[in-house]
Amino acid sequence: MIQFFNVTKKFDNGTLGLENISVSINRGEFVFLVGPSGAGKSTFTRLLIRELLPTNGQIMLDGKSIIRMKSKEIPDLRRKIGFVFQDFRLLQDRTVYENAAFALEAVGTPISEVKKRVPAVLEMVGIGDKYDCFPEELSGGEQQRVAIARAIVNNPSILLADEPTGNLDPDTSLEIMKIINDINKRGTTIIMATHDSEIVNKMRKRVIVLNKGAIIKDELKGGYDYGIQ
Ligand code: ADP
Repeated sequence: MIQFFNVTKKFDNGTLGLENISVSINRGEFVFLVGPSGAGKSTFTRLLIRELLPTNGQIMLDGKSIIRMKSKEIPDLRRKIGFVFQDFRLLQDRTVYENAAFALEAVGTPISEVKKRVPAVLEMVGIGDKYDCFPEELSGGEQQRVAIARAIVNNPSILLADEPTGNLDPDTSLEIMKIINDINKRGTTIIMATHDSEIVNKMRKRVIVLNKGAIIKDELKGGYDYGIQ
């Protein structure tokens, strides 16, 4: 469970990234984070992975303070969270298989385990037959599948997706959303920042709307409506 208690983030130049946010996200929930550019979506996700510390307030993950965490505990926190980005961020000089295996190898997973988990996860995202290709040989949708495989191969409890469909056409976006929804059905919490109104309206998940650093709406089965005049 993720809990933000009265969290404010003021940057050094005085800009407020978030102002007095309180919100809980249960394990296994699917949450869309929406709002205009500059609303605080990235600040929210960067606080969650402790890339930033809040100016005030408390942030807990599964009952443990992220803020009080020692620096040696941060890698463990980040292993619980998988990331997917709009621009895929694959290693161009490595194959599909190597891209997905990288995260496992980096944490010292035994090779026998890597050889089991990587093909299974590539299969799950529907890219098993392209394991030997390099990213530049793949379409955008295929590259995003690889990025998702890499993000979940460690079995994180949370998947953070930042505009994962931002570079994809509508049909491919729906395919990617089906995969993300399947990952959610297996119990992974999804937090997805997006401007894709069609997807938000279609999926009817929880929608948290941020504007100027504040939560202005939080609806279960919500739609894409900022409610900003
Ligand atoms: P979003 O992801 O919704 O576009 P952000 O969280 O990036 O919004 O930004 C929220 C506010 O904080 C904006 O006004 C932005 O300009 C400001 N901001 C973000 N990062 C910094 C930073 N490192 N220094 C100063 N201001 C920042």
